[in-house]
Amino acid sequence: MSAEGIMKSIAAKKQGRAVSLIHVDLPHIKNDEIMISTLETGLCSTDRELLTDGVISPPEGSEFLILGHEALGKVVEVGSGVSSFRAGDLVVPTVRRGCGRCDFCNNGRSDMCSTGNYKERGIQGLHGFMSERFIENETNLIKMPDSMRRHAVLLEPMSVAIKAIEEAFMIQKTRLYGHSDRPSREVFEVFRNALIIGAGPIGLLTSLAMLYYKVNIFCADIVEHGGTKSTIIEELGGHYINLKEYQKGSEIDLQRIRNKTILGEVDCIIDASSHPLTCLQLIDVLTPNGVVAILGLPHKNGIQKVKTSELMSSLVLKNHIVMGSVNSNKRHFEKARDCIEVLQKQYYNVLSRIVTHSLPFSDYRQALEIDERDRIKVVLTWE
Ligand code: BGC
Repeated sequence: MSAEGIMKSIAAKKQGRAVSLIHVDLPHIKNDEIMISTLETGLCSTDRELLTDGVISPPEGSEFLILGHEALGKVVEVGSGVSSFRAGDLVVPTVRRGCGRCDFCNNGRSDMCSTGNYKERGIQGLHGFMSERFIENETNLIKMPDSMRRHAVLLEPMSVAIKAIEEAFMIQKTRLYGHSDRPSREVFEVFRNALIIGAGPIGLLTSLAMLYYKVNIFCADIVEHGGTKSTIIEELGGHYINLKEYQKGSEIDLQRIRNKTILGEVDCIIDASSHPLTCLQLIDVLTPNGVVAILGLPHKNGIQKVKTSELMSSLVLKNHIVMGSVNSNKRHFEKARDCIEVLQKQYYNVLSRIVTHSLPFSDYRQALEIDERDRIKVVLTWE
């Protein structure tokens, strides 16, 4: 910790987005609040996007936004009205705080906020967790067992993957089997094979989550075979597809993909690539009645052409569903905790390789500059 009463935080200025290490007053907790000492924070594409083309939206009255929405911390102090946490507990905070007005936010589903007036810690309207300390309410914290210390910082991105899979599954289960004599089915009975586009942190965590649901995985990216990403997919028993081998310019030779890989009955595609053209072309390999869930926000400079009429005809003729998915609520975090706990037993070493870089928070500049080809998840440590 810094000098008494002062803590260090990583913040971006509203004007010009300059990021720096700042000193801020240590906050004090109220009766219903909890003081958390930060252990680790993850960096994700949302953070990088904010600092390159995004809009920095600090809390009202502030000229800067403390960054960070993926965090693991340890409780150091609890208010007198707090009953379910105590000093020493490991915790992960959720990200979004509801608008307080719509039915979704008022029922624990701020991830589906219908007014758009939500706030997100470290992203929009509220300071984030890249601070030596932060304060939260009980309702926004997930307690983590000590046995999950190593992978707990992955909880937030895993919860985003879980939400997308569960939403896609609920839609498909209802529309395909809701009227059958056996409407209640497991995920693997609705999704036999999933294609995950993009082998970044979200793509790999989605692949892992699919295994938790017992679904076979294919994962496509543009990095060579033999690197960490393809090796992870293969160690998980999945099939890695190097799209470079099938691309002429930005066009994918879909027939060759079909001939050369065993891609057959893909009934769910999860896009975590942020490349619209790649995602929209690959819808062609989706089985009739399949679903595509898009998780990656496209890069702002990506002007790309898509054969729109072919795409629309195919969506109609094959009863395809294309859905978007953002954020996650507390239930998804709890499911993600269960998922990581189960996966740790079989794939501890795979999970451990998702974090490729772990640097002290003072090296945040270096952390932000790690090349996309070398990194999966970059983590800053605070103790
Ligand atoms: C975070 C989500 C958030 C989204 C949009 C993602 O990186 O994981 O929690 O809702 O960005 O701001």
